[in-house]
Amino acid sequence: MNMLASAVVARQVPFFDYPALFEQDRAGLTQIFLDVCGRGAYIMQKDLREFEAALAAFTGAKHAIGVADGTNAILLGLRALELPAGSEVIMASHTYVATANAAYFAGLVPVPVDCGPDHMIDPTAIREAITPKTRVIMPTQLNGRCADMDAIRALAAEHKLIVAEDAAQALGARFNGTHAGLFGAFGTISFYPAKVLGCFGDGGAVLTNDDRIAAYVRTAADHGRNEHGEFVMWGTNSRLDNLQAAFLKYKLTTYGDAMKRRRWIAARYHELLKEVPELHLPPAPDADKRHFDIYQNYEIEADRRDSLKEYLKGMGVGSIIQWAGQPLHKIKALGLSSRPLQKTDRMFERCLMIPLHLAMSDSDVDHVANSIRAFYGR
Ligand SMILES: *Cc1c(COP(=O)(O)O)cnc(C)c1O
Repeated sequence: MNMLASAVVARQVPFFDYPALFEQDRAGLTQIFLDVCGRGAYIMQKDLREFEAALAAFTGAKHAIGVADGTNAILLGLRALELPAGSEVIMASHTYVATANAAYFAGLVPVPVDCGPDHMIDPTAIREAITPKTRVIMPTQLNGRCADMDAIRALAAEHKLIVAEDAAQALGARFNGTHAGLFGAFGTISFYPAKVLGCFGDGGAVLTNDDRIAAYVRTAADHGRNEHGEFVMWGTNSRLDNLQAAFLKYKLTTYGDAMKRRRWIAARYHELLKEVPELHLPPAPDADKRHFDIYQNYEIEADRRDSLKEYLKGMGVGSIIQWAGQPLHKIKALGLSSRPLQKTDRMFERCLMIPLHLAMSDSDVDHVANSIRAFYGR
């Protein structure tokens, strides 16, 4: 070990820190709990309506519909499209299993494809996967970044396909000024606790500018019941809890600061790590003016990735290999067929997510980056 390496002293920087995030605003959050419970306002109350209105205003969506979670958001959005059973949905293999699960439970067939150097779905790979059964292109707006939506929309127009986004990780991310979730028929958001806008349990939303899709999702998520209380179609229970909506509405008011801080951390990582040749970094915040990334995750590629992960652990730094190292086409139980996905396979030998969250201090950020540099002898 060289001098610098031994000079970096271990300190605890967990990959994520739920208790610390709660402690940052214990009083404000407790007040919301007391207020909502004091009113006994649990299901479909004003906090939900107000949060939906605030979310629509924030993103510029005509409709924002709170649902039980991000997976149900995709499921209900896809069902609203009323496609023939067995229609194919092209998605990145580098996505959470939820994207594929939702398509499957909507009676559709997930078709996983490769990703590009920025880890986003590769438009060329989409083109190669189109068959007569393809109906939907579903990019995952991964790690808080939008895919190349110009290329994807052009491809969809050429082949008369529907674009629908899994924007679970990308609330507030933009591409050419348009918010993630608004590039196609609908987009979905997750409020899972570790998401940038996280609640205290499960939560999700569907964003859409389409009145029919909005009405379908809203009705289907409440047992097929319309606004007059009549049962007008088959449905399920996939409502967003009013208490969660109240927390989310409150947290949305400071979301601008949260995005700013994340972008600052990403810029700092880029600054400290850009000259390490063993690494491939995510695009920096100012690298491409079309993109406004919110850095839900900071996913690097690294030589000797497994040793780096072990070394970081010794330095007190938590890190994660996304999806437990299994992109969709590697999950045997799903039995998905795809072409060989060499880029994704190669990427999964090297990818690692390092901590990026609001409980980190500036010196925590530097400790993570300096530990990585030390591992490579820099
Ligand atoms: C979190 C996530 C989901 C699922 O959201 P849940 O709210 O946990 O159901 C779907 N897709 C991606 C890419 C996600 O990161």
